[in-house]
Amino acid sequence: MKLPAMQMHDVRKVASPIRVPDLSFVIPAFNEEENIAETIRRVDTEARSLVRSYEIIVVDDGSSDGTFQHAKAADRDVPIQVIRLSRNFGKEQAIMAGLEASTGAGVVILDADLQEPLCHLASMIQHRAEGFEVVYAVRAHRDDEPYLKRLFTRVFYKLLNLGTEASIPEDARDFRLMDRRVVDALCELPERNRFMKGLYGWVGFRTKAIEIELEQRGGGKSKFGFRGLLKLGLTGMTSFTNWPLRVWTLIGMSIATLSIVYGLWIVAKTMLFGIDVPGWSTLAVAVFLLGGVQLISIGVLGEYLARVFTEVKGRPGFIIAEIHSHIEAEG
Ligand code: UDP
Ligand code: MG
Repeated sequence: MKLPAMQMHDVRKVASPIRVPDLSFVIPAFNEEENIAETIRRVDTEARSLVRSYEIIVVDDGSSDGTFQHAKAADRDVPIQVIRLSRNFGKEQAIMAGLEASTGAGVVILDADLQEPLCHLASMIQHRAEGFEVVYAVRAHRDDEPYLKRLFTRVFYKLLNLGTEASIPEDARDFRLMDRRVVDALCELPERNRFMKGLYGWVGFRTKAIEIELEQRGGGKSKFGFRGLLKLGLTGMTSFTNWPLRVWTLIGMSIATLSIVYGLWIVAKTMLFGIDVPGWSTLAVAVFLLGGVQLISIGVLGEYLARVFTEVKGRPGFIIAEIHSHIEAEG
């Protein structure tokens, strides 16, 4: 199934400027009409002072508000390309759409909600010049988040890292500067269930973390509620671990061993002291417990199977509806 590759090719053709820009900025945006214009303005100002040439790629992830119009309305002298996806495919896919369209020698990913402090761009570029192919931002602290969310995050990353070859840092942001080689490696991965934080780590390369303080969200509210995070978490787990599948062998073996010991004990007891009638409660508990354990294990299997199913169907991760570009006009 070659569809995504074809799409990538098409996008590049449209985007392709005469020179390769020093930096591409990839900005996924979903219902960010209050922030997108300001984000573009700030990125443009910052980029102008940092590099000779750059391009800004805004991916409108199926917004239902005026995000696309606001992004398109950027000044003519801003080298911008706005890609509108045909519906909301999720942040991970929006990032991929942007990465595939990007042509820069380095690529910066950042959110469209003004949370990322752009003052760190200079030091990111500095680190890249020192030979780090990936410079990513980590949050210095998560004090602004509720205790329960922090706890869940911690447990999630601990479980996630139990099974991965490349460890996935807990507080890493999508805000990062990556070398073209890293971006190409990411774009070549064929999988559709994408958990970017895992993939960044998986592709490797020399990486450097820098600490940042997140700023307040501009307008609007966070797009990741409990359900969104749960969905992302499941994608992360199923695409980066095998242990939830395997652990059932161990649990099954332990329960079987315990049952055999218990069975032997009952036989011995019956032979020594005669038949003892009560015991239905033990039976009931055992039946319910085992039923529960089996259902959980089938559920876990189902989660993995569902991912296999989406991969096998081979549908593209996103569909581009429309591209608006100032870059072509410049080139
Ligand atoms: N986003 C997106 N598609 C989605 C959800 C979010 O492109 O389905 C974008 C969103 O517009 C923002 C970035 O991803 O630019 C981060 O989202 P948000 O600020 O809601 O997440 P948080 O900062 O709360 O983790
Ligand atoms: Mg945000």
